[in-house]
Amino acid sequence: MTNNKKETEKLLSHQDLGVQLDLYSFHDIAPGAPFWHPKGMAVFRELEKAIREALDSQNYQEISTPIMVRKDLFEKSGHFQFYKDLMFTLKVDDQTFVLKPMNCPESAIVYGTKTRSWRDLPLKFSEIGRLHRKELSGVLNGLFRVRQITMDDAHIYTGINNLVEEINQLIVLIDNFYKIFNFKTSYFLATRPDEAKIKYEIQPKEGAFYGPKIEIHVKDSLGRSWQLGTIQVDFNMAEKFNLSFANQKGEKEKPVVIHRAVFGSFERFIGILVENYQGALPVWLSPVQVKILSISEQYEKYAENIRAELARKNIRAEIDGANETIGKKIRNSEIEKIPYILVVGEKEEKNDSVAVRERGKGDLGAMKLEKFIEKINKEIESKI
Ligand SMILES: [Zn+2]
Repeated sequence: MTNNKKETEKLLSHQDLGVQLDLYSFHDIAPGAPFWHPKGMAVFRELEKAIREALDSQNYQEISTPIMVRKDLFEKSGHFQFYKDLMFTLKVDDQTFVLKPMNCPESAIVYGTKTRSWRDLPLKFSEIGRLHRKELSGVLNGLFRVRQITMDDAHIYTGINNLVEEINQLIVLIDNFYKIFNFKTSYFLATRPDEAKIKYEIQPKEGAFYGPKIEIHVKDSLGRSWQLGTIQVDFNMAEKFNLSFANQKGEKEKPVVIHRAVFGSFERFIGILVENYQGALPVWLSPVQVKILSISEQYEKYAENIRAELARKNIRAEIDGANETIGKKIRNSEIEKIPYILVVGEKEEKNDSVAVRERGKGDLGAMKLEKFIEKINKEIESKI
């Protein structure tokens, strides 16, 4: 008995939960690169949507740059010298290309396509970019350590006078974002301190080769600590790529570049979330938010009407049409950690209602369908 209890309380890894919940899988043919299943993609897309909404309201402009670029771009930026062991190179038409391990130099190319003035600054280019890093096969670890990384990246081009203000805004952005997941943040400053009024710890010499760096660490609900976001100030990039803007006096001035990531890597962030919630993701992130179960075949059409109505309201719902008892279907949905189960039969069809069971709370009784939609939409919108 004791052993069994311990077994059920044991925390599952995101790899095991990924299989159990049909989110993603890993295969030898692509080491360090997950295959995202439809349910995993639903989570991925919600996170993309959430970060895009946050950035749109702060005047970011999204760009997308090539994955495969000539090696000399990364020599020019200085990355190649530091990261060559981590970069995949390939020969095409007698030229050496790399799979980009970071987006920075390509963002600089977009900046350089126009004459910029102080009125354009701060210029914030965001990119959800696919990166590749040649991690050794021995260190690959599910979603935590991958070779193909999806990064929520941004480069902010600003005059030196606005640097501190921009950094403070970034800290607020990142802090607010982590609050959605109830993560507690702490900050580490590598090298030079700035004016931001936050408590931080110093990590000497841990900064990037081009300047100081703020690392944002979070504690999840299991008490584990993770380094997620970074804010890095770069005084070299403008020089290397000959970037400038016309300042208020009409003189050419070099912008300072801030590199920043909120999640860091989508892969790692999703791995952390899946373990943090042990698969019971909040309603807004759940791949299937509602499971509909009909008492018998007679009510399958009503179940389908409900599914279609929920889909029209952008609520992800599925019908369990298996030939099983209702008790067994409820148990299966609970194992799948579905936030809401709707049971429908004669009474429900007659009253345009559904019998609602909520994850962790059990039976909530009958509810008009429109009332249920109102309730779940409120939770989705407030990201509960
Ligand atoms: Zn960068």
